[in-house]
Amino acid sequence: MADFDLAILGGGLNGVSVARDAAGRGLRVILLEQGDLGGGASSASPRLIHGDLSVLERREFSRVRAALSERDTWLQIAPHLVRPMRFAIPAHADERPPWVLRAWLWLYDRLGARRPLPPAETVDITHHPAGDALKRPFGTALEYSDCIVDDSRLVVLSAVDAAEHGAEICTGARCVRADRSDVWRLAIIDRGHRRITTARALVNATGAWTASVADTVLRVPAKPLGLTQISQIVVKRLFDSDNVYVFQNHDRRLIFASPYERDFTLIGTVGHPFKGDPAVVSMAAGDVAYLCDAANRYFRERVETSDVVRTVAGANSVIGRSKSGLRRDGVLNFDVKRGKAPLVTIFGGDITTARLRAERAVSQLSKFYPMSPRWTAKSPLPGGDFNFAKFEDEVESAREQWRFLGESQARRMVSAYGSRLVTILGDAKSREDLGPAFGSDLSGAEVRYLMTKEWARFPDDVLWRRSKLGLTMPAAEREKLAAFMASVAP
Ligand SMILES: Cc1cc2nc3c(=O)[nH]c(=O)nc-3n(C[C@H](O)[C@H](O)[C@H](O)COP(=O)(O)OP(=O)(O)OC[C@H]3O[C@@H](n4cnc5c(N)ncnc54)[C@H](O)[C@@H]3O)c2cc1C
Repeated sequence: MADFDLAILGGGLNGVSVARDAAGRGLRVILLEQGDLGGGASSASPRLIHGDLSVLERREFSRVRAALSERDTWLQIAPHLVRPMRFAIPAHADERPPWVLRAWLWLYDRLGARRPLPPAETVDITHHPAGDALKRPFGTALEYSDCIVDDSRLVVLSAVDAAEHGAEICTGARCVRADRSDVWRLAIIDRGHRRITTARALVNATGAWTASVADTVLRVPAKPLGLTQISQIVVKRLFDSDNVYVFQNHDRRLIFASPYERDFTLIGTVGHPFKGDPAVVSMAAGDVAYLCDAANRYFRERVETSDVVRTVAGANSVIGRSKSGLRRDGVLNFDVKRGKAPLVTIFGGDITTARLRAERAVSQLSKFYPMSPRWTAKSPLPGGDFNFAKFEDEVESAREQWRFLGESQARRMVSAYGSRLVTILGDAKSREDLGPAFGSDLSGAEVRYLMTKEWARFPDDVLWRRSKLGLTMPAAEREKLAAFMASVAP
């Protein structure tokens, strides 16, 4: 008998979503991630949970409807990670006329049939907080509802849920060879040690590595795949209003400027074909300048390339082109051969539809194993067992329970852990009860939790994927954190 029903290669959003779905349906699952969870493209997304106006503009209405339905699902199952926001599109004299935008947004609201969020409206931004950060000529904006998400934590908490349903999650574990017979026999380098395991089916969810893994690890014939990269910039906070701005650029692209942590703004995206090692994706100077120029068409405060504090870039595989451009809804391929264990290949696609994509992938395997019905749309991710409209109440009650928490720290921790915050803070009465402090916001208790429950091994895992505290933590504090993690590590 094989050790596992399903082995998954890749701990990006696609891989962990498949692991979560399959483990909850009763399959014995192992997930192998060569680095850290979310270390690839999944931490470089535009962080939008949306129906996608550019897809609407291409008249792919059923895709928009499906994505909006998934948006509402995420709001229910991940109310800590997913925040509803008002998106503002300033009307620009040289771009799409307001009546066109109004018509699209009217349709957008209709396609999102369950409508838990407020509908679109036209606002006079000369007397509205959304207008404060914008240049004078912008008098009108179209506002509509969508959501933003912490993409890296979505990956990690999906993995936590998978593990709590019995999946074995292995980080720092690279699959170097997989032999296919009636089962898959996998050779793994797991934190420096070679090990062998077997599985009845295999999922290749290795993102930008999909083709090279198919070629060199699985040794199966695969269609040639292209690679694209997307990039974004982080600058210091450019606006106080609680909006995401959607800027129409002169090339008709929509550029998003969204709040990023408390003190920063994320501006993106720019995308183009990628060549090279997907582990090293950097942003070209021209792309940085492009996004600064796009922002400078709208924001009153100038954004220079020297103001960029961080670039966020990732690559993923793409297959072919549709008449509307690159296929962005993800690819799912199911390979079954007589006497050979099944192979599922899944890559790309929006974050918004990752849960649905995984559900479809696992459902394909129901011909091979008995499994329980679909479940992930109704079951909250760890810590997400409260109503999204009660987020502020959760922050308030955290501050009442742990009086030493400052407002922004409580907000960060509720966003990250939701109702699981109690597992970290327990009955602490003061800051000192939480062990050493790293910077103003991170405690030894939190780091220990991340290491024991969320597979954090190195400072970057904590500072860039379990949180974004790397944006503000001074170098000396990072060194202290590295020493602490080395002392705690098994
Ligand atoms: C060009 C582009 C456009 C995008 N557009 C959008 C968008 O419009 N909206 C949106 O929401 N999101 C978008 N995204 C981001 C989207 O979040 C990702 O595509 C999505 O998260 C799926 O990622 P993944 O799991 O397929 O890949 P990844 O997150 O890259 O995960 C793959 C993982 O496989 C691991 N791996 C590779 N080889 C091995 C091996 N041999 N053994 C073990 N592990 C291995 C890697 O380390 C990596 O962590 C875009 C991303 C890109 C790059």
